[in-house]
Amino acid sequence: MSIPVHDVLIVGGGGAGLRAAIAIAQASPDQSVAVVSKVYPMRSHTVSAEGGAAGVIKSDDSKEHHCNDTIGGGDWLADQDAVEMFVEEAPKELIQLEHWGCPWNREPDGSVAVRPFGGMKIKRTWFASDKTGFHMLHTLFQTSQQFDPVTRYDEHFAFDLLVHDGRCQGVATIDQRSGEMRIIGARAVILCTGGGGRIFPFTTNAAIKSGDGMALAYRAGVALKDMEFVQYHPTGLPGTGILITEAARGEGGILLNRHGRRYLQDHDLGTPLDVSDPRHPQLKSMELGPRDRLSQAFYWEREAGNVFEDEMGSYVHLDVRHLGEEKINKRIPFVRDTAKNYVGVDCAFEPIPVRPVVHYMMGGVDTDINAATSLPGLYAAGECACVSINGANRLGSNSLTELLVFGKRAGLEASRFARENPQIAIEAIAARANDEAARLKSLHTQGKAGEESIAPLRRELTSAMEEGAGIYRTQAKMDALCERIRELKARVKNLRVTDTSRTFNTQLVNALELDFMIDAAEALAFSAAARKESRGAHQRLDFRARDDDNYLAHSIAHRTDGDPKISYKDVTITRWPPKERVYGK
Ligand SMILES: Cc1cc2nc3c(=O)[nH]c(=O)nc-3n(C[C@H](O)[C@H](O)[C@H](O)COP(=O)(O)OP(=O)(O)OC[C@H]3O[C@@H](n4cnc5c(N)ncnc54)[C@H](O)[C@@H]3O)c2cc1C
Repeated sequence: MSIPVHDVLIVGGGGAGLRAAIAIAQASPDQSVAVVSKVYPMRSHTVSAEGGAAGVIKSDDSKEHHCNDTIGGGDWLADQDAVEMFVEEAPKELIQLEHWGCPWNREPDGSVAVRPFGGMKIKRTWFASDKTGFHMLHTLFQTSQQFDPVTRYDEHFAFDLLVHDGRCQGVATIDQRSGEMRIIGARAVILCTGGGGRIFPFTTNAAIKSGDGMALAYRAGVALKDMEFVQYHPTGLPGTGILITEAARGEGGILLNRHGRRYLQDHDLGTPLDVSDPRHPQLKSMELGPRDRLSQAFYWEREAGNVFEDEMGSYVHLDVRHLGEEKINKRIPFVRDTAKNYVGVDCAFEPIPVRPVVHYMMGGVDTDINAATSLPGLYAAGECACVSINGANRLGSNSLTELLVFGKRAGLEASRFARENPQIAIEAIAARANDEAARLKSLHTQGKAGEESIAPLRRELTSAMEEGAGIYRTQAKMDALCERIRELKARVKNLRVTDTSRTFNTQLVNALELDFMIDAAEALAFSAAARKESRGAHQRLDFRARDDDNYLAHSIAHRTDGDPKISYKDVTITRWPPKERVYGK
């Protein structure tokens, strides 16, 4: 078998992966760069981002404010050196994207337009209508095509990292078009595989977001960090989980319960308040409060019987009618289309039914500020990585910018590593190919005798996750979830793969993805059960307060043959000592 070798191999063709590829191609045209993607790159989840990307550009804003919002929004779990670096680089990256052709919306005077976004106390979210991710990914994709050294392995599914001599030296993939296994050698590998929201039943995440990169790193001995922090977005469509972007609230949309009350005025810290008591501060930021708080408010409204309950499940109303048709068509046209197509509601005339849905994973592959993991030669960037700038709760619109800032950084660091470590153990990698081929063959053939079907097992996993690690958590429920995961982990080894065809065998890929999902779920559940406090997106009914004395620390999950080993790592605090997280008091 001939084995191609690249200087840097990037797994993932979304925003982070393509930004990394461009950075290397520009800085080191002599190096060979490759991008492996399980879907055609333009179908990566980045394409579906709507609202925008944050970066300081206006005179009423400052980098200090952006750092403040990000660190406070993350409930002081973000590493502050990484946040400062991110905030510093953010506008440079967004301007760079403009130069590559990204059509940012403009103010009438021609300057870049920014919109408000939840948890950002000053307007700083750049946007391209409500199709920001689409335009950003197009821009990156077309730019990446200008460079000769970028080789693409489209529709190749990466199923193992090739580690030899304590260093990552390549990836084992399946070429889904031919069904052939393809081993690709590399002097450095960057994981840019996105998140894993699909381990929950209601999610805005595309079906391809199954936590693959997290599981690949975890299996190779790299820790997963802060996995218990899962962001619910307060406005997904009931049933499908399809996102109604935060831009709808940024532009002035309001949330109403079934009594037509703008219920956020009754909540603070997600707990119902006695509003007749004047001592209670109101959540003045209301619909522009952070996502975790808004999702928690929904939970309490549901407990109080204030939400709609019918065949669509539980939901409240998002009302944008007062914006008027003209503004809706200009600023949030995609919201109007989405609501029409998926729930039959024309939002210019009727409120949209919405509910909290899983949207983003703050946790991921543990990296340092340079995107390096603990495994030499392995880097990670984008949603699959945890640097961490998002702490316990990401602020909307920081993620798209994070892809650019850390995608570029990962690219440059991996390129440097490849240059300094040119030797590669090609024979050892080739030998591994035989093991990998045998593993795949056994899934293909012996898989037929397996007793577990993929879809029911996946449903069991996702509903267990919602039950045990939803918006509010308790020890008993998380312990039950951990027990459930032990069982599912054993059962997933006995999956039945009846499709033996070679071309686009989606059943085989689904089986491999489910196996990855269970690994990501395992790290998440055990990290959650161990954190006995409430912080950001990790809210416990049995430990209501944040506990900085014991838990101002990143949780670190290492895979073992049994349960994962959970330990803690210090948070980097530079200039922002922890304080109470308040909005609008
Ligand atoms: C509906 C929606 C709207 C959003 N809106 C916003 C917003 O307005 N602003 C904001 O800041 N953030 C937003 N986010 C979050 C943000 O879009 C994502 O965090 C970000 O796009 C992730 O980019 P990525 O490059 O890390 O991964 P992705 O874009 O998800 O790309 C992952 C890549 O990895 C590849 N891959 C994965 N597994 C494998 C494998 N096993 N083998 C080979 N290839 C693999 C895929 O093919 C894909 O190319 C939104 C998210 C969603 C779901």
